Amino acid sequence: MTRNFSLLGPPASGKGTQGRRLAERFAVPYLSTGACLRREIERGSAIGQQAEGYLARNEFVPDSLAVDLVRSWLSEHDGGWVLDGFPRSLPQAEALVMDAGTNFQAIALEVPREELVRRVGLRRECVKCGRVAKEGEPVCPNCGGEWTVRDDDTPEKFRKRYEVYKNLTVPVLDFFEGRGQLTIIDGLGDRDVVWERIEEKL
Ligand code: AMP
Repeated sequence: MTRNFSLLGPPASGKGTQGRRLAERFAVPYLSTGACLRREIERGSAIGQQAEGYLARNEFVPDSLAVDLVRSWLSEHDGGWVLDGFPRSLPQAEALVMDAGTNFQAIALEVPREELVRRVGLRRECVKCGRVAKEGEPVCPNCGGEWTVRDDDTPEKFRKRYEVYKNLTVPVLDFFEGRGQLTIIDGLGDRDVVWERIEEKL
């Protein structure tokens, strides 16, 4: 059984929450390309400088940048992995297939648009580790970090990100489905209930 997974889904569908859980369950490392890019931007690294304008405009970074980032990370992690937010376009999917072949499973979280809008309005995440807050948690239970609102969690920015998802990432779902490498999960409801649905399918 594979221990390599890629979480797909629209913004606020729960990729980060479920991806971390999947990584814990299989004791494998987890990479969120979005969180990684935000960190690089904060550090002012060369990658961060290249990525900054794209994130500010809510556009995808160029495929070559995303692929290089993930390839360099994968080269250091070959005993299983969870990718959150990669691949997000067909060229990225093809690059991953070149590297991992059939030895990974894509998991797509399906959540209706109205629910995504609601979640984006409420979402708070940890400044340090990126974990999404549950109601009633004063600080991050993972690392003690403070909660913050992401710059791109506004209704206008959500609209743009959702459009980009539909145009560029939905074809990736079809691509993996055609290869028999896609599991679709109903992402509606409490995070524990969604996790049970994922576990059932594993
Ligand atoms: P996320 O935190 O997953 O919503 O990602 C935040 C932002 O990072 C996205 O809106 C994109 O600008 C960029 N990003 C993350 N992953 C990718 C990717 N695989 N390809 C291109 N851009 C990405």
